[in-house]
Amino acid sequence: MSNDIDLHNVSVPLGEDFPEIRDGVRRICADYPAAYWRDLDRREAYPSEFVQAMTEAGYLSSLIPEEYGGAGLSLRAAGVILQECHSSGCYAAAAHAQMYTMGTVLRHGSPEQKARYLPKIASGELRLQAFGVTEPTTGTDTTKLKTRAVRQGDHYVVHGQKVWTSRAEYSDLMLLLVRTTPADQVQKKTDGISVLLVDMREARGNGMEIRKLGAMVNHNTTEIFFDGLKVPAENLIGAEGKGFRCILDGLNAERILVSHESIGDAQWFIRTATAYANERVVFDRPIGKNQGIQFPIARAYAELQGADMIVRKSAALFEAGLPCGEDANLAKLLSAEAAWSAAEACMQTHGGFGYAREYDVERRWREARIQRTAPISTNLILAYIGEHVLGMPRSY
Ligand SMILES: Cc1cc2nc3c(=O)[nH]c(=O)nc-3n(C[C@H](O)[C@H](O)[C@H](O)COP(=O)(O)OP(=O)(O)OC[C@H]3O[C@@H](n4cnc5c(N)ncnc54)[C@H](O)[C@@H]3O)c2cc1C
Repeated sequence: MSNDIDLHNVSVPLGEDFPEIRDGVRRICADYPAAYWRDLDRREAYPSEFVQAMTEAGYLSSLIPEEYGGAGLSLRAAGVILQECHSSGCYAAAAHAQMYTMGTVLRHGSPEQKARYLPKIASGELRLQAFGVTEPTTGTDTTKLKTRAVRQGDHYVVHGQKVWTSRAEYSDLMLLLVRTTPADQVQKKTDGISVLLVDMREARGNGMEIRKLGAMVNHNTTEIFFDGLKVPAENLIGAEGKGFRCILDGLNAERILVSHESIGDAQWFIRTATAYANERVVFDRPIGKNQGIQFPIARAYAELQGADMIVRKSAALFEAGLPCGEDANLAKLLSAEAAWSAAEACMQTHGGFGYAREYDVERRWREARIQRTAPISTNLILAYIGEHVLGMPRSY
C-alpha cells in the first residue's frame, strides 16, 4: 500500500462485532445440523431449505442498498454472516453468490436494469447466483476466453462453453462473460469482453444446455454449452467491450467475503479438533496431551488469529473507500491457508475416524480445500503480491 494514504482514521473492530447478526445467523444454522449437510453431500443435492431460510431472514440481500429492498449493510457485516455459517458447520457456498454476484449489476447496470432486477434479487424472487467466467481450454487466462457473442439486431447470439459454473441449475439469472470483439481485433487483451445477464429460465433448451459436473465437493457445479443462444441486447451490463473491468472491480469484495468463510472453517476445525483431542483416550491419556497432536492445533489457531486480523483490515479499508487490493489478496491467501492448516490438524487428530462420514471432518476438509483453488488459486494471489505489491516482473 502507498505510504501517501492516511490510514489513521481507519479503525478495525476487534472481538465479536455485529453480535445481533451473529446470533441471528447462529439460530438459523442450528436448524441445519451436520446430518442435514451430510445427507445433501451424499445425494449431491442443493440446500434449498437453508438458502430459503437465509433469504427470508434478509441475510442474502445484506449488500443490496435499502432503496432496492436490501439491508444495505457493510461488507464486514456480510462477511460476518458467511463466517458464522461456516463456523457453525454450515456451507454457505450454495448461497453466497446471491449475496454478491449482483454487485456487477449494482455498480454497472443502467437505472432500468437496477430497478428491474435488484428488488427481486433482494426479495429472493429472482436468484442470481451463477457466474460464468471459467472455460475449459483457457482456465485462469481469462482474457483468452472463447465464448463469443455476436450482435444481430436487438440480440446477441452466443456460442461457446463454460465450465465450473456453480449453482447454474438453481439460478434464474447468470452473469456471463463473453467476447464481443475477437482478441486479434482489440488493442488491449482486456478489451472486447462484455458481461451479459442471461435469463436461464428462457435460455435452457433454447441454445443453452446445462450439464452437472461431478466434483469432490457438493458445489452444484456445471458445464454450460451455448449454441446460438439469443440474449436481448438490453441485457448487456455496462459498456460493450468493457466487461472485464466490470468484473475486476468486484473482485476485492468477493475475496474479502469468501475469506470470512475460511475464517469460519478454521474456527470450526480448531473447536472440533480440540474437543476430540481432550476426549479421545489412547495409551491411558487424552491424545491432546501429546505435543504431536496439540501443537498442530495450536499452530493452526495462531494462523487463524493472524489471518482474521488481515480479513478485518481488508474489510475496513474497503469500507473506507481506500485501496485494498493488497489486503484483499492477503486475506484470501492467509485465511485459506489457515483453514487448510486447521483442516489438516483436525483430520490428523481424528485418526481413522477423520475418514468416517458421520464425524463430518472429511466433508468439511474437502469443503475447506476449495478456497485454495477457487475463486482464485493461491499461485495467482502470489503472482499479484510479487508483481503489484513487491514490484517484481510479471511472472506470466
Ligand atoms: C468447485 C469449484 C467451483 C467453481 N465455481 C466457479 C464458478 O461459479 N464460476 C466460474 O467461472 N468458475 C468457477 N470455478 C473455476 C475456478 O475459478 C478455476 O478452477 C480456477 O480459476 C482455476 O482455473 P483452472 O481450473 O482452469 O486451472 P488452470 O488455469 O488450468 O491452472 C491450473 C494450475 O496452474 C496454476 N497456474 C496457471 N497459470 C499459472 C501462472 N501463470 N503462474 C502460476 N501458476 C499458474 C493455477 O494456479 C492452478 O493451480 C470453480 C472451480 C471449482 C473447483
